[in-house]
Amino acid sequence: MLTAEGLTAATLLVDGERIAGVRGWGDVPAGAPLRDFGDYVLLPGLVDSHVHINEPGRTEWEGFWRATRAAASGGVTTLVDMPLNCVPETTNSAALEAKRTAAIGRTWVDWAAWGGVVRGNAGDLLALAASGVPGFKCFLIHSGIDGFPWVAEADLRLALQRLRGCGLPLLVHAELAGPVDAATAKLNKAQADWRRYSTFLASRPDAAEVEAIRLLIGLAEEFQTPIHIVHLSSAAALPLLAEARGRGVPVTVETCAHYLWFAAEEIPDGATEYKCTPPIRGAANREALWAALMSGVIDMVITDHSPCPAEMKRRDEGRWDLAWGGIASLGLALPALWTGMKRRGVGLERLGEWMAAAPAQLAGLAGQKGVLAAGADADIVVFDPDAATNVEAGDLHFRHKLSPYLGAVLRGRVLETWLRGEPVFSLNLPSEGLDGHFPGKPRGRELARR
Ligand SMILES: [Zn+2]
Repeated sequence: MLTAEGLTAATLLVDGERIAGVRGWGDVPAGAPLRDFGDYVLLPGLVDSHVHINEPGRTEWEGFWRATRAAASGGVTTLVDMPLNCVPETTNSAALEAKRTAAIGRTWVDWAAWGGVVRGNAGDLLALAASGVPGFKCFLIHSGIDGFPWVAEADLRLALQRLRGCGLPLLVHAELAGPVDAATAKLNKAQADWRRYSTFLASRPDAAEVEAIRLLIGLAEEFQTPIHIVHLSSAAALPLLAEARGRGVPVTVETCAHYLWFAAEEIPDGATEYKCTPPIRGAANREALWAALMSGVIDMVITDHSPCPAEMKRRDEGRWDLAWGGIASLGLALPALWTGMKRRGVGLERLGEWMAAAPAQLAGLAGQKGVLAAGADADIVVFDPDAATNVEAGDLHFRHKLSPYLGAVLRGRVLETWLRGEPVFSLNLPSEGLDGHFPGKPRGRELARR
């Protein structure tokens, strides 16, 4: 069992929806019903603080029902939804209410919603905070969604003034438009071939991330307000982040499972299912991200599950500039990360911090989610660390079965996922079609901040 003390043989006491205690192996209260999981490992329910659910408004891309089932299948018991792909975008309290209404009776795991910071909505932020969002998200470059306009430094300053003192983090897509626009213009002038992955990679240079992060570190320090860098891809920004964190600047960092798993050298031309921004970079960059994760400069690993209908990937043309950006991966991050950890000789102990405790803390859920400890919700993953899976479409429970992980051989398998004391996913349940692994009814609830 993976507890805050590490990997140990133990007894977990569950009372209703909560964990009542963690005791030594075999220390079972007289008369208590007992389930013995043998050599399998019990992990805390994972927390994925970066997911694009798209409902209401773009449910044909993804919705609460499928996304939360996919989450449960991968051991994720808490999701935090991004504010941009739904309609209306979550940039005011009325939009948050629309999302709450859409979620009723449709969530298989617990969830929360980030609020959005866009150009012109500084006046809505405190009301949105009072409505219960755990923090806010913004972009420094076009988000892909016209209804979610990116912000410039002046807007950031306005937002940080409002958020200063309320303790909520501002999550930022850290790429500046300037270096991306300049690189793209240069590639177009040279008539670069947009079917080639190398063209796309060159269009999103490291400098776009590095310069954005430099700006954000300065603002976090000036306003003493927590800023969280979402989906860090460029290892070139790590020295800046390490230095800032060493000085106590309130900056935290996440990276995605796909930046730790894939490498640019392996991505075929035209294979737009790999398109995401910032892009997957080279193998040496990947190893530097792993080192930063192990040293603590990167706090957590999330999916950034961002699906779309298959035709929007425009696989037939294979043009990286025209395809929708976003990788579908909800349910696969745990075995992908664990396989990478095994290859690098990292013990399972670190996984709970990276995929559960740290994202729970970011979302204001420390102590309630992401930990096997007395008082926490009884969210439990039964994990077989040795099983091997060749990822097939049948393993994917999200709506559109297009993912760069198809065909990957991953180690570790989620056998069961428990949400607040009851199973919500069981690999071995008799299944009707793809969806028979989910016992009971959707019991997920919103974890609004109070
Ligand atoms: Zn995202």
